[in-house]
Amino acid sequence: MGQDDPRRTVPRTDRLLALPAVAAARGRLSEQVIRGVVAQHQDEVRQGRLPAESIEAAIERELEARRPSTIRPVLNATGVIVHTNLGRAPLSAAAIEAIERAARYADVELDLRSGKRGSRGRGAVDALLEACPAAEAALVVNNGAAALLLAVTALSGEAEIVVSRGELIEIGAGFRLPELMQVFGSRLREVGATNRTHPADYARVLGDATGCVLKVHPSNFTISGFTSGVDVAALRRLLDEHAAADRRIPLVVDLGSGLLEPDPALPDEPDLTSALRAGADVVIASGDKLLGGPQAGLLLGRRDAIERLAKHPLARAVRADKLALAALEATLRGPGTPVRDALHADPARLHERTLVLATRLGAPVVPHDGRVGGGGAPGHPLPGWAIELPADYAERLRLGEPAVLARVHDGRCLVDLRCIPEASDGLLLDALIAAKR
Ligand SMILES: *Cc1c(COP(=O)(O)O)cnc(C)c1O
Repeated sequence: MGQDDPRRTVPRTDRLLALPAVAAARGRLSEQVIRGVVAQHQDEVRQGRLPAESIEAAIERELEARRPSTIRPVLNATGVIVHTNLGRAPLSAAAIEAIERAARYADVELDLRSGKRGSRGRGAVDALLEACPAAEAALVVNNGAAALLLAVTALSGEAEIVVSRGELIEIGAGFRLPELMQVFGSRLREVGATNRTHPADYARVLGDATGCVLKVHPSNFTISGFTSGVDVAALRRLLDEHAAADRRIPLVVDLGSGLLEPDPALPDEPDLTSALRAGADVVIASGDKLLGGPQAGLLLGRRDAIERLAKHPLARAVRADKLALAALEATLRGPGTPVRDALHADPARLHERTLVLATRLGAPVVPHDGRVGGGGAPGHPLPGWAIELPADYAERLRLGEPAVLARVHDGRCLVDLRCIPEASDGLLLDALIAAKR
Protein backbone atom coordinates (compact mmCIF):
# COMPACT_ATOMS: atom_id res chain seq x y z
CA MET A 1 0.00 0.00 0.00
CA GLY A 2 1.45 3.37 -1.05
CA GLN A 3 1.66 6.49 1.09
CA ASP A 4 -1.24 8.18 -0.72
CA ASP A 5 -3.37 5.07 -1.15
CA PRO A 6 -6.87 6.12 0.03
CA ARG A 7 -7.36 2.70 1.67
CA ARG A 8 -4.87 3.74 4.31
CA THR A 9 -7.09 6.60 5.29
CA VAL A 10 -10.50 4.86 5.32
CA PRO A 11 -11.76 5.27 8.88
CA ARG A 12 -12.22 1.95 10.70
CA THR A 13 -15.64 0.38 11.03
CA ASP A 14 -15.58 0.10 14.84
CA ARG A 15 -14.77 3.79 15.18
CA LEU A 16 -17.61 4.79 12.83
CA LEU A 17 -20.08 2.46 14.57
CA ALA A 18 -19.28 4.24 17.84
CA LEU A 19 -20.39 7.66 16.51
CA PRO A 20 -23.20 9.33 18.50
CA ALA A 21 -25.27 9.57 15.30
CA VAL A 22 -25.10 5.78 14.97
CA ALA A 23 -26.26 5.30 18.55
CA ALA A 24 -29.22 7.62 17.87
CA ALA A 25 -30.09 5.78 14.63
CA ARG A 26 -30.24 2.44 16.48
CA GLY A 27 -33.61 3.56 17.88
CA ARG A 28 -34.99 3.77 14.34
CA LEU A 29 -33.03 1.46 12.06
CA SER A 30 -31.80 -2.12 12.02
CA GLU A 31 -28.12 -2.93 12.64
CA GLN A 32 -27.93 -4.23 9.07
CA VAL A 33 -29.12 -0.94 7.59
CA ILE A 34 -26.72 1.06 9.76
CA ARG A 35 -23.74 -1.14 8.85
CA GLY A 36 -24.77 -0.86 5.21
CA VAL A 37 -24.69 2.95 5.39
CA VAL A 38 -21.28 2.89 7.07
CA ALA A 39 -19.85 0.42 4.55
CA GLN A 40 -21.21 2.41 1.63
CA HIS A 41 -19.47 5.58 2.86
CA GLN A 42 -16.22 3.72 3.48
CA ASP A 43 -16.41 2.56 -0.13
CA GLU A 44 -16.83 6.10 -1.32
CA VAL A 45 -13.71 7.17 0.58
CA ARG A 46 -11.83 4.18 -0.81
CA GLN A 47 -12.79 5.18 -4.34
CA GLY A 48 -11.75 8.76 -3.74
CA ARG A 49 -15.28 10.16 -4.10
CA LEU A 50 -15.56 11.33 -0.49
CA PRO A 51 -12.73 12.95 1.51
CA ALA A 52 -11.93 10.87 4.62
CA GLU A 53 -12.40 13.86 6.89
CA SER A 54 -16.01 14.27 5.65
CA ILE A 55 -17.14 10.71 6.29
CA GLU A 56 -18.53 11.25 9.79
CA ALA A 57 -20.71 14.19 8.78
CA ALA A 58 -21.87 12.33 5.65
CA ILE A 59 -22.87 9.24 7.64
CA GLU A 60 -24.67 11.42 10.16
CA ARG A 61 -26.65 13.18 7.40
CA GLU A 62 -27.55 9.94 5.70
CA LEU A 63 -28.66 8.21 8.90
CA GLU A 64 -30.77 11.18 9.91
CA ALA A 65 -32.58 11.13 6.57
CA ARG A 66 -33.14 7.35 6.59
CA ARG A 67 -36.47 5.91 7.72
CA PRO A 68 -37.27 2.22 8.10
CA SER A 69 -39.75 2.63 5.21
CA THR A 70 -38.68 4.32 1.99
CA ILE A 71 -42.22 5.50 1.19
CA ARG A 72 -42.24 9.26 1.70
CA PRO A 73 -45.10 11.71 2.11
CA VAL A 74 -45.70 14.03 -0.86
CA LEU A 75 -47.69 17.25 -1.06
CA ASN A 76 -50.03 16.75 -4.00
CA ALA A 77 -50.08 20.06 -5.91
CA THR A 78 -51.35 18.53 -9.17
CA GLY A 79 -55.06 19.20 -8.63
CA VAL A 80 -55.70 15.49 -9.34
CA ILE A 81 -57.60 14.15 -6.33
CA VAL A 82 -57.27 10.37 -6.72
CA HIS A 83 -53.69 10.27 -7.96
CA THR A 84 -52.65 6.70 -8.76
CA ASN A 85 -48.92 7.44 -8.45
CA LEU A 86 -49.47 9.06 -5.06
CA GLY A 87 -51.32 6.15 -3.47
CA ARG A 88 -54.86 7.26 -4.45
CA ALA A 89 -57.00 8.54 -1.56
CA PRO A 90 -55.24 10.24 1.37
CA LEU A 91 -56.84 8.91 4.55
CA SER A 92 -58.93 10.94 6.99
CA ALA A 93 -57.58 11.63 10.47
CA ALA A 94 -60.15 9.17 11.83
CA ALA A 95 -58.93 6.42 9.48
CA ILE A 96 -55.29 7.06 10.38
CA GLU A 97 -56.11 6.81 14.08
CA ALA A 98 -58.04 3.58 13.46
CA ILE A 99 -55.00 2.07 11.72
CA GLU A 100 -52.83 2.95 14.69
CA ARG A 101 -55.34 1.28 17.06
CA ALA A 102 -55.59 -1.86 14.92
CA ALA A 103 -51.87 -2.12 14.29
CA ARG A 104 -51.07 -4.16 17.41
CA TYR A 105 -53.06 -7.08 18.82
CA ALA A 106 -56.70 -6.18 18.26
CA ASP A 107 -60.09 -7.92 18.41
CA VAL A 108 -60.19 -8.45 14.64
CA GLU A 109 -61.73 -11.92 14.94
CA LEU A 110 -62.64 -12.09 18.60
CA ASP A 111 -65.83 -11.25 20.45
CA LEU A 112 -64.50 -9.82 23.70
CA ARG A 113 -67.84 -10.31 25.49
CA SER A 114 -68.18 -14.03 24.87
CA GLY A 115 -64.48 -14.74 24.47
CA LYS A 116 -65.38 -16.66 21.30
CA ARG A 117 -64.33 -16.19 17.73
CA GLY A 118 -65.94 -13.13 16.14
CA SER A 119 -66.72 -12.25 12.56
CA ARG A 120 -63.77 -10.63 10.80
CA GLY A 121 -64.51 -7.16 9.48
CA ARG A 122 -68.01 -6.99 10.99
CA GLY A 123 -67.59 -3.30 11.91
CA ALA A 124 -66.63 -2.29 8.37
CA VAL A 125 -69.53 -4.27 6.88
CA ASP A 126 -72.02 -2.71 9.32
CA ALA A 127 -70.70 0.77 8.52
CA LEU A 128 -71.11 0.09 4.78
CA LEU A 129 -74.68 -1.12 5.25
CA GLU A 130 -75.54 1.93 7.35
CA ALA A 131 -74.03 4.20 4.68
CA CYS A 132 -75.81 2.33 1.88
CA PRO A 133 -79.20 1.06 3.14
CA ALA A 134 -80.12 -0.09 -0.38
CA ALA A 135 -77.81 -3.09 0.18
CA GLU A 136 -78.91 -6.13 2.20
CA ALA A 137 -75.37 -7.43 2.70
CA ALA A 138 -71.76 -6.47 2.07
CA LEU A 139 -68.32 -8.03 1.79
CA VAL A 140 -64.92 -6.33 1.87
CA VAL A 141 -61.95 -7.80 -0.01
CA ASN A 142 -58.44 -6.66 -0.88
CA ASN A 143 -59.18 -4.35 -3.83
CA GLY A 144 -61.61 -3.64 -6.64
CA ALA A 145 -60.00 -6.04 -9.09
CA ALA A 146 -60.22 -8.85 -6.52
CA ALA A 147 -63.87 -8.01 -5.87
CA LEU A 148 -64.64 -8.29 -9.58
CA LEU A 149 -62.73 -11.54 -9.95
CA LEU A 150 -64.52 -13.04 -6.95
CA ALA A 151 -67.97 -11.88 -8.05
CA VAL A 152 -67.83 -13.19 -11.62
CA THR A 153 -66.00 -16.40 -10.69
CA ALA A 154 -68.38 -17.31 -7.88
CA LEU A 155 -71.59 -16.28 -9.66
CA SER A 156 -70.87 -17.66 -13.12
CA GLY A 157 -69.40 -21.05 -12.19
CA GLU A 158 -69.10 -23.09 -15.39
CA ALA A 159 -71.55 -20.85 -17.20
CA GLU A 160 -71.00 -17.66 -19.19
CA ILE A 161 -70.26 -14.12 -18.07
CA VAL A 162 -72.18 -11.88 -20.46
CA VAL A 163 -70.60 -8.45 -20.98
CA SER A 164 -70.74 -5.63 -23.54
CA ARG A 165 -67.69 -5.19 -25.81
CA GLY A 166 -67.71 -1.48 -24.94
CA GLU A 167 -67.03 -2.33 -21.29
CA LEU A 168 -64.01 -4.62 -21.62
CA ILE A 169 -61.64 -1.98 -20.32
CA GLU A 170 -58.01 -1.80 -19.28
CA ILE A 171 -57.99 -0.60 -15.67
CA GLY A 172 -54.38 0.54 -15.69
CA ALA A 173 -50.78 -0.37 -16.50
CA GLY A 174 -51.67 -3.17 -18.92
CA PHE A 175 -54.22 -4.93 -16.70
CA ARG A 176 -57.32 -5.73 -18.70
CA LEU A 177 -60.65 -6.87 -17.30
CA PRO A 178 -61.28 -9.65 -19.86
CA GLU A 179 -57.93 -11.26 -19.04
CA LEU A 180 -58.49 -10.85 -15.32
CA MET A 181 -61.92 -12.46 -15.45
CA GLN A 182 -60.63 -15.49 -17.33
CA VAL A 183 -57.83 -16.24 -14.86
CA PHE A 184 -59.86 -19.10 -13.40
CA GLY A 185 -61.23 -20.31 -16.70
CA SER A 186 -64.49 -18.39 -16.64
CA ARG A 187 -66.13 -18.09 -20.05
CA LEU A 188 -66.76 -14.60 -21.37
CA ARG A 189 -69.63 -14.00 -23.77
CA GLU A 190 -69.11 -10.62 -25.43
CA VAL A 191 -72.09 -8.78 -26.86
CA GLY A 192 -72.56 -5.63 -28.93
CA ALA A 193 -69.89 -3.42 -30.46
CA THR A 194 -67.28 -1.10 -28.95
CA ASN A 195 -69.44 1.99 -29.24
CA ARG A 196 -72.98 0.56 -29.18
CA THR A 197 -74.71 -2.26 -27.38
CA HIS A 198 -78.49 -2.73 -27.60
CA PRO A 199 -80.99 -4.71 -25.50
CA ALA A 200 -81.37 -7.13 -28.43
CA ASP A 201 -77.64 -7.96 -28.24
CA TYR A 202 -78.10 -9.18 -24.69
CA ALA A 203 -81.45 -10.82 -25.43
CA ARG A 204 -79.88 -12.99 -28.13
CA VAL A 205 -77.46 -14.71 -25.73
CA LEU A 206 -79.33 -14.77 -22.41
CA GLY A 207 -80.57 -18.13 -21.24
CA ASP A 208 -79.60 -21.33 -19.44
CA ALA A 209 -75.94 -20.88 -20.42
CA THR A 210 -75.79 -17.50 -18.67
CA GLY A 211 -73.99 -17.52 -15.33
CA CYS A 212 -74.18 -13.81 -14.69
CA VAL A 213 -74.30 -10.52 -16.53
CA LEU A 214 -71.60 -7.96 -15.87
CA LYS A 215 -71.88 -4.23 -16.43
CA VAL A 216 -68.68 -2.21 -16.06
CA HIS A 217 -68.58 1.55 -15.70
CA PRO A 218 -65.87 2.92 -18.03
CA SER A 219 -64.25 4.86 -15.20
CA ASN A 220 -61.08 6.11 -16.88
CA PHE A 221 -62.20 7.25 -20.33
CA THR A 222 -65.23 8.55 -22.18
CA ILE A 223 -66.40 7.74 -25.65
CA SER A 224 -68.59 10.27 -27.35
CA GLY A 225 -70.46 10.42 -30.62
CA PHE A 226 -72.51 7.51 -31.92
CA THR A 227 -72.81 5.53 -28.72
CA SER A 228 -75.40 3.63 -26.72
CA GLY A 229 -75.52 1.17 -23.88
CA VAL A 230 -78.12 -0.61 -21.79
CA ASP A 231 -78.59 0.80 -18.30
CA VAL A 232 -78.93 -1.22 -15.11
CA ALA A 233 -82.73 -1.00 -14.89
CA ALA A 234 -83.18 -2.08 -18.52
CA LEU A 235 -80.73 -4.95 -18.01
CA ARG A 236 -82.66 -6.12 -14.96
CA ARG A 237 -85.90 -6.20 -16.95
CA LEU A 238 -84.21 -8.15 -19.75
CA LEU A 239 -82.76 -10.66 -17.32
CA ASP A 240 -86.11 -11.22 -15.65
CA GLU A 241 -87.72 -11.79 -19.05
CA HIS A 242 -85.10 -14.26 -20.21
CA ALA A 243 -84.44 -16.35 -17.11
CA ALA A 244 -86.35 -19.52 -16.37
CA ALA A 245 -89.22 -18.90 -13.94
CA ASP A 246 -87.37 -20.39 -10.97
CA ARG A 247 -84.07 -18.66 -11.64
CA ARG A 248 -82.72 -15.15 -11.15
CA ILE A 249 -79.70 -14.34 -13.35
CA PRO A 250 -77.33 -12.30 -11.21
CA LEU A 251 -76.47 -8.81 -12.46
CA VAL A 252 -73.04 -7.59 -11.32
CA VAL A 253 -72.27 -3.89 -11.75
CA ASP A 254 -68.67 -2.72 -11.38
CA LEU A 255 -68.77 1.01 -10.71
CA GLY A 256 -65.15 1.54 -9.71
CA SER A 257 -65.19 4.90 -8.03
CA GLY A 258 -67.30 4.19 -4.93
CA LEU A 259 -69.74 7.07 -4.71
CA LEU A 260 -72.35 5.88 -2.21
CA GLU A 261 -75.00 8.29 -3.44
CA PRO A 262 -75.31 10.72 -6.36
CA ASP A 263 -72.99 13.72 -5.93
CA PRO A 264 -74.10 16.98 -7.60
CA ALA A 265 -70.43 17.88 -8.13
CA LEU A 266 -70.11 14.86 -10.46
CA PRO A 267 -73.42 14.62 -12.32
CA ASP A 268 -72.30 11.82 -14.67
CA GLU A 269 -70.68 9.59 -12.07
CA PRO A 270 -72.84 6.55 -11.19
CA ASP A 271 -73.35 5.65 -7.52
CA LEU A 272 -73.83 2.42 -5.61
CA THR A 273 -77.26 3.20 -4.17
CA SER A 274 -78.82 4.03 -7.55
CA ALA A 275 -77.36 0.89 -9.16
CA LEU A 276 -78.78 -1.30 -6.38
CA ARG A 277 -82.20 0.38 -6.57
CA ALA A 278 -82.16 -0.17 -10.35
CA GLY A 279 -81.82 -3.92 -9.84
CA ALA A 280 -78.13 -4.84 -9.54
CA ASP A 281 -77.57 -7.98 -7.44
CA VAL A 282 -73.99 -7.04 -6.61
CA VAL A 283 -72.25 -3.68 -7.00
CA ILE A 284 -68.48 -3.33 -6.86
CA ALA A 285 -66.28 -0.37 -5.96
CA SER A 286 -62.79 0.43 -4.74
CA GLY A 287 -62.30 1.78 -1.21
CA ASP A 288 -59.55 4.22 -2.17
CA LYS A 289 -61.16 6.23 -4.95
CA LEU A 290 -64.06 8.64 -4.33
CA LEU A 291 -65.02 6.92 -1.09
CA GLY A 292 -61.75 8.33 0.23
CA GLY A 293 -60.69 5.28 2.24
CA PRO A 294 -58.00 2.60 2.22
CA GLN A 295 -57.31 0.14 -0.59
CA ALA A 296 -60.23 -2.28 -0.53
CA GLY A 297 -62.75 -3.95 -2.81
CA LEU A 298 -66.34 -3.36 -1.76
CA LEU A 299 -69.13 -5.75 -2.71
CA LEU A 300 -72.68 -4.74 -1.77
CA GLY A 301 -75.98 -6.23 -2.75
CA ARG A 302 -78.58 -8.94 -2.22
CA ARG A 303 -78.01 -11.25 0.69
CA ASP A 304 -78.09 -14.50 -1.33
CA ALA A 305 -75.53 -13.25 -3.85
CA ILE A 306 -73.14 -11.79 -1.25
CA GLU A 307 -73.34 -15.01 0.78
CA ARG A 308 -72.35 -17.03 -2.27
CA LEU A 309 -69.29 -14.82 -2.69
CA ALA A 310 -68.32 -14.98 0.97
CA LYS A 311 -68.39 -18.81 0.89
CA HIS A 312 -66.30 -19.16 -2.29
CA PRO A 313 -62.71 -20.40 -1.67
CA LEU A 314 -61.37 -17.38 -3.56
CA ALA A 315 -62.81 -15.09 -0.86
CA ARG A 316 -60.09 -16.28 1.52
CA ALA A 317 -57.35 -15.57 -1.02
CA VAL A 318 -58.47 -11.97 -1.47
CA ARG A 319 -59.48 -11.12 2.08
CA ALA A 320 -58.95 -7.63 3.43
CA ASP A 321 -56.15 -6.77 5.81
CA LYS A 322 -57.09 -5.68 9.38
CA LEU A 323 -55.57 -2.22 8.85
CA ALA A 324 -57.77 -1.69 5.79
CA LEU A 325 -60.86 -2.92 7.64
CA ALA A 326 -60.18 -0.52 10.51
CA ALA A 327 -59.53 2.40 8.17
CA LEU A 328 -62.58 1.66 6.02
CA GLU A 329 -64.93 1.62 8.99
CA ALA A 330 -63.44 4.87 10.34
CA THR A 331 -63.64 6.49 6.89
CA LEU A 332 -67.38 5.78 6.85
CA ARG A 333 -68.09 6.65 10.48
CA GLY A 334 -65.67 9.58 10.80
CA PRO A 335 -66.41 13.24 10.11
CA GLY A 336 -65.35 13.48 6.45
CA THR A 337 -62.51 12.72 4.11
CA PRO A 338 -59.76 14.72 2.39
CA VAL A 339 -61.11 13.42 -0.94
CA ARG A 340 -64.51 14.94 -0.20
CA ASP A 341 -62.91 18.21 0.91
CA ALA A 342 -60.85 18.40 -2.29
CA LEU A 343 -63.84 17.54 -4.48
CA HIS A 344 -66.04 20.17 -2.87
CA ALA A 345 -63.35 22.82 -2.33
CA ASP A 346 -64.84 26.31 -2.62
CA PRO A 347 -63.27 27.98 -5.68
CA ALA A 348 -63.30 31.41 -3.97
CA ARG A 349 -61.42 30.07 -0.94
CA LEU A 350 -58.99 28.21 -3.23
CA HIS A 351 -58.36 31.50 -5.04
CA GLU A 352 -57.62 33.36 -1.78
CA ARG A 353 -55.15 30.70 -0.58
CA THR A 354 -53.45 30.52 -3.98
CA LEU A 355 -53.13 34.30 -4.13
CA VAL A 356 -51.49 34.48 -0.69
CA LEU A 357 -48.76 32.05 -1.72
CA ALA A 358 -48.33 33.46 -5.24
CA THR A 359 -47.91 36.99 -3.87
CA ARG A 360 -45.14 35.82 -1.55
CA LEU A 361 -43.40 34.28 -4.56
CA GLY A 362 -44.11 37.13 -6.96
CA ALA A 363 -45.75 34.65 -9.34
CA PRO A 364 -49.06 34.91 -11.26
CA VAL A 365 -52.26 32.98 -10.43
CA VAL A 366 -53.95 31.34 -13.42
CA PRO A 367 -57.23 29.42 -13.78
CA HIS A 368 -56.60 25.68 -13.54
CA ASP A 369 -59.00 22.74 -13.66
CA GLY A 370 -58.55 19.97 -11.12
CA ARG A 371 -59.62 16.38 -11.86
CA VAL A 372 -61.00 13.44 -9.94
CA GLY A 373 -58.25 11.26 -11.46
CA GLY A 374 -57.79 7.48 -11.26
CA GLY A 375 -61.06 5.68 -11.75
CA GLY A 376 -63.68 8.37 -11.57
CA ALA A 377 -65.46 11.08 -13.53
CA PRO A 378 -63.12 10.95 -16.55
CA GLY A 379 -62.79 14.26 -18.32
CA HIS A 380 -64.88 16.15 -15.75
CA PRO A 381 -63.17 19.49 -14.91
CA LEU A 382 -63.15 20.90 -11.37
CA PRO A 383 -62.60 24.65 -11.83
CA GLY A 384 -59.87 26.11 -9.63
CA TRP A 385 -56.55 27.95 -9.70
CA ALA A 386 -52.81 27.43 -9.85
CA ILE A 387 -49.62 29.35 -9.17
CA GLU A 388 -47.75 29.55 -12.47
CA LEU A 389 -43.98 29.02 -12.22
CA PRO A 390 -41.17 28.28 -14.68
CA ALA A 391 -41.05 24.57 -15.60
CA ASP A 392 -37.68 24.01 -13.89
CA TYR A 393 -39.33 24.44 -10.49
CA ALA A 394 -40.99 21.05 -10.84
CA GLU A 395 -37.87 18.97 -10.31
CA ARG A 396 -36.59 21.04 -7.39
CA LEU A 397 -40.02 20.79 -5.74
CA ARG A 398 -40.07 17.02 -6.24
CA LEU A 399 -36.63 16.62 -4.70
CA GLY A 400 -37.27 18.98 -1.79
CA GLU A 401 -38.32 18.25 1.78
CA PRO A 402 -41.25 17.86 1.92
CA ALA A 403 -41.50 16.55 -1.63
CA VAL A 404 -44.05 18.46 -3.70
CA LEU A 405 -45.57 17.11 -6.91
CA ALA A 406 -46.74 19.93 -9.19
CA ARG A 407 -48.21 19.69 -12.68
CA VAL A 408 -45.97 20.37 -15.66
CA HIS A 409 -48.02 21.55 -18.62
CA ASP A 410 -47.19 23.59 -21.70
CA GLY A 411 -43.69 24.37 -20.43
CA ARG A 412 -44.95 25.69 -17.09
CA CYS A 413 -44.97 24.36 -13.55
CA LEU A 414 -48.48 24.68 -12.11
CA VAL A 415 -49.06 24.47 -8.35
CA ASP A 416 -52.71 23.68 -7.54
CA LEU A 417 -53.84 23.87 -3.90
CA ARG A 418 -57.03 21.78 -4.27
CA CYS A 419 -55.48 18.65 -2.72
CA ILE A 420 -53.29 20.47 -0.19
CA PRO A 421 -54.89 20.54 3.27
CA GLU A 422 -55.20 24.20 4.28
CA ALA A 423 -53.11 23.47 7.38
CA SER A 424 -50.19 22.59 5.07
CA ASP A 425 -50.17 25.89 3.15
CA GLY A 426 -47.23 27.08 5.27
CA LEU A 427 -45.23 23.93 4.51
CA LEU A 428 -45.96 24.33 0.81
CA LEU A 429 -44.87 27.97 0.88
CA ASP A 430 -41.56 27.01 2.55
CA ALA A 431 -41.01 24.35 -0.13
CA LEU A 432 -41.78 26.86 -2.89
CA ILE A 433 -39.40 29.45 -1.43
CA ALA A 434 -36.66 26.80 -1.11
CA ALA A 435 -37.20 25.79 -4.75
CA LYS A 436 -36.80 29.41 -5.87
CA ARG A 437 -33.04 29.34 -5.26
C1 LIG B 1 -60.47 1.11 -10.42
C2 LIG B 1 -61.39 0.13 -11.06
C3 LIG B 1 -61.18 -1.24 -10.91
C4 LIG B 1 -60.01 -1.80 -10.13
O1 LIG B 1 -60.11 -1.53 -8.77
P1 LIG B 1 -58.79 -1.59 -7.85
O2 LIG B 1 -59.27 -1.18 -6.50
O3 LIG B 1 -57.81 -0.67 -8.46
O4 LIG B 1 -58.30 -3.00 -7.88
C5 LIG B 1 -62.07 -2.11 -11.49
N1 LIG B 1 -63.12 -1.65 -12.20
C6 LIG B 1 -63.36 -0.33 -12.37
C7 LIG B 1 -64.55 0.10 -13.15
C8 LIG B 1 -62.50 0.61 -11.80
O5 LIG B 1 -62.73 1.91 -11.97
